[in-house]
Amino acid sequence: MNLRTATKHGVPVPQELARGKLAARSVAPAGGLELATRAEKVAAVAAEHAAAVDRDSRFPAEAIAAMRAARLLGIAVPREFGGEGASIADVADVCYALGRSCASTAIIYAMHQTKVACIARHGKTTAWHQRLLRRLGSEQLLLASSTTEGKAGGDVRNSSVPIERHEARITLERQATVISYGEAADGVVTTARRSPDAASGDQVLVVFLKPDYTLERLNGWDALGMRGTCSGGFRLAASGRGEQILPVGYDKIHAQTMMPVAHLLWSSAWAGIAAAAVERARAFVRKAAHRADSTMPPGATHLTRAGASLRVLRSVIADALRRFELATDEAALESVDFQAGMNLVKVNASELAVSTVTSALQACGLSGYRNDSEFSIGRHLRDILSSPIMISNDRILANVGMASVLSGVPSSLRD
Ligand SMILES: Cc1cc2nc3c(=O)[nH]c(=O)nc-3n(C[C@H](O)[C@H](O)[C@H](O)COP(=O)(O)OP(=O)(O)OC[C@H]3O[C@@H](n4cnc5c(N)ncnc54)[C@H](O)[C@@H]3O)c2cc1C
Repeated sequence: MNLRTATKHGVPVPQELARGKLAARSVAPAGGLELATRAEKVAAVAAEHAAAVDRDSRFPAEAIAAMRAARLLGIAVPREFGGEGASIADVADVCYALGRSCASTAIIYAMHQTKVACIARHGKTTAWHQRLLRRLGSEQLLLASSTTEGKAGGDVRNSSVPIERHEARITLERQATVISYGEAADGVVTTARRSPDAASGDQVLVVFLKPDYTLERLNGWDALGMRGTCSGGFRLAASGRGEQILPVGYDKIHAQTMMPVAHLLWSSAWAGIAAAAVERARAFVRKAAHRADSTMPPGATHLTRAGASLRVLRSVIADALRRFELATDEAALESVDFQAGMNLVKVNASELAVSTVTSALQACGLSGYRNDSEFSIGRHLRDILSSPIMISNDRILANVGMASVLSGVPSSLRD
């Protein structure tokens, strides 16, 4: 079965975000299969267990095991460190494929790959991180993220707890409000204040591997959606060596990699959820039309609306992926326009994804609203409602406010 043409209900839905790129660039270390085929295999496993993962609010262990077997966790490790050198567009396509099957699996993959991207871009000159990059590929390690602490919510650019130094060693102890799949991960990549006397915005990014830390559970994860992310709260007590801190300040890492890559990959996972909802709505409308002697049911206009917003969603992400690939130097990555665009892609993608899924629900009517129907949109709707709050859109819009004042309006449609 070809990833670009396959459907669940005989109705074609686009299979890639950045059409053609994934297949063209991928290399195939896992049994000679190209990346698209490997992603499709993992997506099939994720789909099989998605309902149970959601029902039991449990880690999607089968999908992550399949990911390891297909060697998908290390695809973005640069070739010089034994990886496949996959681009962010390639990774985005995997997130999209996974999102169509199991939202939790997709967002876990997106979070992990965001951490890999930070290490690959900003740690490739330091021996400790070079060794880690090799291990990410060879051992298929899974990395979690800790940025949210205490009562600070999604204020990623400020940390309260500092790194403490004891000669060559470092320690960190924080109340992490949320660490998705913290207990299942092989390491945690965390922001922290640079030192006890540093300002809250003077941050570093540091990698702790499992033997370096303990997690004491502070709360569980019984959430509306994204239930398989197991995003509990923990007291994180970590110790390691100073060289585990990335050699570049977090302000640069955030602007150049963490924020844009997180927003692109999260958006791709959400687009996958939206595409899956559209698939269900199409199948519902087709079945209803078939039963009514090819007369379209009244809900068909909602399907058209869902399809229309999915098109816009996909093109918003594809355009942002192209812009990210074109921004090859620090000046371009840190420009006001690029930063605003990468922040806003998250806001736009989450809003479009929610409206796509809502339209799909309306197209299916009661069959979409029921949990016990083959056309249920319940899980998609609950999962996608995490998107506007996963770093609040309000917070992002407030942060981009000044850039909106500084940026001019483009003089051409092709800018
Ligand atoms: C599925 C999922 C997985 C996650 N996984 C992780 C993880 O692995 N690691 C991690 O560290 N974090 C994780 N997070 C947390 C995430 O990164 C954010 O920190 C969190 O979603 C923000 O929580 P909040 O809404 O309580 O906080 P806030 O961002 O403080 O928002 C609280 C309220 O204030 C409003 N608000 C905030 N700022 C402004 C503003 N400037 N103007 C107007 N209104 C504003 C918001 O709209 C919201 O209503 C995850 C979140 C989700 C949903």
